Formats: sequence, structure tokens, C-alpha cells
Amino acid sequence: MNKRDSYVFRARLHKAFKGVGEWMNHLLFPDDIKCIFCGDDISNFYDKPYCEDCEKTLPLNDGHVCKVCDMPIKADEEVCDFCKKEKKFFERAFCPFIYEKEVKNKILAFKDSNKRYLSKGFAILIAKRILSANININYITYIPMSAKGEKRRGFNQAKLLAEEIGKILHKPVVCFFNKDKDFEKQKSLTYKERQAAMIGMYSLKEANIKRTDNVLIVDDVITTTATVNYCAGLLHPKVNKVYVCAVARTNHNPINEISVSNQKKLEKELKKRKNKN
Ligand SMILES: [Zn+2]
Ligand SMILES: [Zn+2]
Repeated sequence: MNKRDSYVFRARLHKAFKGVGEWMNHLLFPDDIKCIFCGDDISNFYDKPYCEDCEKTLPLNDGHVCKVCDMPIKADEEVCDFCKKEKKFFERAFCPFIYEKEVKNKILAFKDSNKRYLSKGFAILIAKRILSANININYITYIPMSAKGEKRRGFNQAKLLAEEIGKILHKPVVCFFNKDKDFEKQKSLTYKERQAAMIGMYSLKEANIKRTDNVLIVDDVITTTATVNYCAGLLHPKVNKVYVCAVARTNHNPINEISVSNQKKLEKELKKRKNKN
């Protein structure tokens, strides 16, 4: 049996066994011995869940980055122009990859082709980046999906990642946010439109949280930071520090698109909520 036939055979078997029970499935098809990108066997999954061949071409976010939003920047800068201009309600972002090439394909497959097993490898890489920063986290939370969206996909990828990160860091995962409305046409929105549409999209749940707590918000990808920053803003008045993380960060800067009036509107709204609480 050649490699492709073997793969097809195993994929069919995997599908057939789906309902048997997760423990049996795991015994037969352990997902923690294979490169998350090409599927080749590897020996040190919990250290690095991809093989050496893939590593050579992967868009790792391992260069000089903005110390706030984790976006690659010039070596002589500490904070990107975007973070200088727009207030961030989180202390720091952690994103092990740049959102391009094979990483982009894998994240899309993770979400749209039900490849939930990828969450484990992605979570290892995020957790490693967080651990190397030596910060204290009390709770892990995640960006929620609308009930309709989650039902359609069958799962919330950010929640799945949060649960895997929680297992590695030994921290509780708590759902702190409601999603109260959806973007009409999410993909075609500019940053300005996205900022405006964000108002009223998420709200904070009643939570037993202390002013001294540090919270990590998990999302799958950080593009403009509009979503994570909005949710961080909701949490910010109630806690000590908010951190955010994702599998990947886009490598572009929406600075020219930032609407100062939308930003002011957003800050006003968050202030109003803070006074209410
Ligand atoms: Zn590989
Ligand atoms: Zn930045």
C-alpha cells in the first residue's frame, strides 16, 4: 500500500470509528505523534508539533515584534505605529505564527473542515510563547461565536484552543463573554467598518472575578486586533491585566484605516459600561 492509499484507508477507518468513543479512537489513531502540517511521524510532539522539513518553510513569528500586539516590526522599534495610535486594552498578545501560507491553510482547515485535532498542536505553541514570557494568568477565556455560527460549525475553535491551553497551563477556562450580534458581511468589512460594527457585538457575563486576576483571551487568528481589543476593553475595568493570544497574527498594519471617531466612540461606550458596573 503506498503512502496515499494508506492515508485514505486510515482516514476512512478514522471516520468509521468516530462514534466508538474518544479513548478508543485515540488508542488507534494518536494525534500527538504526527507533524500537524504534513502528518509525518515526529518524536517530540509536545516540544515542537511539526517536523524539521515543515519548519523550514513555516511562517514562524520568531523575529522582532511589537511588544504589545506581537506583529513583526523593524528592529529599532519597540511598539508598532498601530499600537502607538490606538489604545490597547490588553497588555500583550502571543501569536506563534504569521497568518500566511501553510499556517493560513491549516487554520482554515481547522475551522472549516472540522480538523479539531489540530487544536492540541496549536495550543502547545501558544502555551510555549506564554510560558517564555513568564507571566501569571488566573483565568483563560475565549471569543465566543453566535449560537447559529457554532451550531453550523459544530464547535467554537477558540474555545477548543482555550481548553487545550488550559490543560497545558493548568488554568481554568471560563466563558466571560456573550456574543450579542453578528457581522452582516464579516469578510468584506474594512477596519473602520469593523470598529463601528463592534459596538454592542459582545458583552460581559456575570462573573466571579477579582480585581487582582489576570485573564488570557484566546482567539484563532488576530487580524486587525479589533475583536480581541473590544473584548479586552470589556474585561479591563474588572481585572488586573488582560492578555490575548491566537495561533497566528496578520503581518499588516491597519493604521491608515483607523477611524479616530470610531475609536473615541468605542472608548466612550466602554467608559459608560465601566461607570455602570
Ligand atoms: Zn511536517
Ligand atoms: Zn503593535
